[in-house]
Amino acid sequence: MMQQLTNSKLAIDTLRISEAKYRSLFENIDQSVIYLDAKGVVMAVNQAAEQLLGLPRDMLIGRKFVDSCFNVIKEDGSVFPEEQQPLLLTLRTGKPVESVVMGLFNAERQSYIWVAVHSVPEFRGDEHQPHQILMTLTDITRQKQSEGKLSMASVIFNNIGEGIFVTDKDKKIISINEAFTTITGFTQQDVYGKNSHFLHSKKNNLKIDDELHNGAREVNSWQGEIWRRHKISMDFPSWTTVSEVKDSSGNVAHYVHVFMDITHFKKTQDHLGFLAYHDPLTKLPNRLLLKDRIDHSLQNALREGSQAAVLFLDLDRFKGINDTYGHAVGDGLLREAAKRIKNLVRKEDTVSRYAGDEFVVFMESISDAKNPAKLAQKLIDTFNAPVYIKGYRLKISTSVGISLFPQDGKDTDTLIKNADAAMYRAKNEGRNNFQYYSLELNTEAFEKMSMECALSQSLERHELILYYQPQVCLKTGKLVGVESLVRWMHPSLGLMSPKQFIPIAEESGFIVPLGEWVLQNACMQMRRWLNEGLQVNKMVVNVSAIQFSRSDFVATVERILHSSGLAPSYLELELTGGSFMDNSEQTIKALNQLVAAGINLTIDDFGVGCFSFNNLNRIPVKKLKINSSFVVDVLTNANNEDITRAVIALGHGLHLQVIAMGIESKAQQNCLANLGCDEGQGYLYGSPVLPWSSIFQQLMKQTMFFQIQTD
Ligand code: C2E
Ligand code: MG
Repeated sequence: MMQQLTNSKLAIDTLRISEAKYRSLFENIDQSVIYLDAKGVVMAVNQAAEQLLGLPRDMLIGRKFVDSCFNVIKEDGSVFPEEQQPLLLTLRTGKPVESVVMGLFNAERQSYIWVAVHSVPEFRGDEHQPHQILMTLTDITRQKQSEGKLSMASVIFNNIGEGIFVTDKDKKIISINEAFTTITGFTQQDVYGKNSHFLHSKKNNLKIDDELHNGAREVNSWQGEIWRRHKISMDFPSWTTVSEVKDSSGNVAHYVHVFMDITHFKKTQDHLGFLAYHDPLTKLPNRLLLKDRIDHSLQNALREGSQAAVLFLDLDRFKGINDTYGHAVGDGLLREAAKRIKNLVRKEDTVSRYAGDEFVVFMESISDAKNPAKLAQKLIDTFNAPVYIKGYRLKISTSVGISLFPQDGKDTDTLIKNADAAMYRAKNEGRNNFQYYSLELNTEAFEKMSMECALSQSLERHELILYYQPQVCLKTGKLVGVESLVRWMHPSLGLMSPKQFIPIAEESGFIVPLGEWVLQNACMQMRRWLNEGLQVNKMVVNVSAIQFSRSDFVATVERILHSSGLAPSYLELELTGGSFMDNSEQTIKALNQLVAAGINLTIDDFGVGCFSFNNLNRIPVKKLKINSSFVVDVLTNANNEDITRAVIALGHGLHLQVIAMGIESKAQQNCLANLGCDEGQGYLYGSPVLPWSSIFQQLMKQTMFFQIQTD
């Protein structure tokens, strides 16, 4: 009996110990555990369960579990149906239910937590109805969140509009998204394993790949514009972000490239940029861009000391046309005006629609203050032709004001203001004309323009005349040649010297037909004289650098010699230093062709103007002509005598003949003869005269000699 008592006490103690162990285990395990009776009423909860649900156990024990846990949701966020609750299922079926995921509202944290619920029935004896339920809840919130993130990332990867490709650390492409294929045309098969450089267009700087990977490495990401290839279509600009992804040890494992096609954006941007600086109607630069260009150009002009001009145009009576025919016609007229103005200016000039019917032309680097007048006149003339718009025939004219940099203003605003003021004067002068801001220039420009206009008609009006001046051998005193010198009989100003009109002809290009006329007439005259027995054997013709620079010059000379029947050895061409300036192969070739044809070449005005001594041993000339400025005081100015002596020595050293120009006295002649000069020309032997003058009549009969005295 005692033994029995001892045994049962022992058993009770063991039970107590085991219950205490069980309680301690129950309370301290991380797993949330809830005991419920057969009606689903909570009998016991552990600490973990209290925390998980955010409710103290006295709010749970004695209450039905389903009542105390409101807001139970399913994974898709909908309300969890009561009949599917694992607890109720176990109660109903007597079977365990495992791993049901549900969202429970945590009252304390005021947020949902995700739990996996197991409910296990416990039976007494062989009852079929469980007498209590053990429910465990496992917190899977973190796991759910990272799963959610992953699936979200995958959704984004495949649905985002930007193209994405991922490379390994060696820049080999390992993955692309759907948008990548849509944007580039390349599929996973096309690009897998290829270096990311494969996707770059040739338009990119070659270093871009290194730059973006280095950039990504330095600051973990790189952003910028990259031109990309398209599989079948054109290359396109993309805005790209490259980010590096590191592994757990901090080494770069991947690069993620995200890009979008910005073709459309760039076009819009370009268009907006264009609109900001251009007039939408005429597409010309607006006043903002005009000012910017003038500002910039004036800085250069100031540095280089060059001139520039602003031409301010206002269409005459434009308002009337606009009011009468409507705005559509007015717009058409402005567009046509812009076109006509644009057609007349040089490439480097800027044409701007300044406002309404006002246009401004900016001319940079002008060589002569009178040049803008020429353009102004052309602008006025271009409106002589009527404009046809929408079936209307419109006559319009323009008034132009001109201001010059630096004399009329040193900054853009002043130049425009003064050109505008000059334009108003042009309006007051009866419109359809131009005016300079500085009054003096108006007369000068007008004179130059009317001279140019008259000169261009001189050939057809037979106003050009050739004079001839003899040349003498300073060794024998014999007359050896004649130089042809052109004159112009101006209809109102009378006989004009070539010094007055050759520069104008050179500037306008009229020198080409004029020069051809001189060559033709001089050759014909020489042929005639030779036929009549003239005792000289050289016809000297001046050639301008502009004539010489033309590719057809040699052919022209040969043609003229042929048509006039003059042998080439009778012709001597005097070329100025400017003809050899470029020292190009083409120049040397032309000179050699002339010499090969048997024509003699002389450098005119040697010692003045632009001539490089470098050229002397390259060009096949026969003679140097010393400019008259050295001869005029060769007797009185020791420097000039030295220079003349040096030129003669230089010429002879190079086996060239030397002729002196401007000999007026015997003393000058003898001095030059003493210095060894080969030939001379000047008033002493005869001034330039007409071909029928007595000197040539005499030469026809006999050889003419002058007396030369040498020491
Ligand atoms: P250039 O070739 O040096 O011609 C000589 C100039 O000196 C001529 O002037 C002539 O009248 C002048 N002259 C002649 N003897 C004397 C003198 O003793 N003393 C002084 N002080 N001057 C003298 P011109 O006829 O007025 O011609 C001037 C320049 O015009 C020429 O200079 C030549 O460069 C150019 N020229 C004349 N005719 C033509 C031509 O047909 N074509 C081209 N391209 N230029 C021409
Ligand atoms: Mg000459």
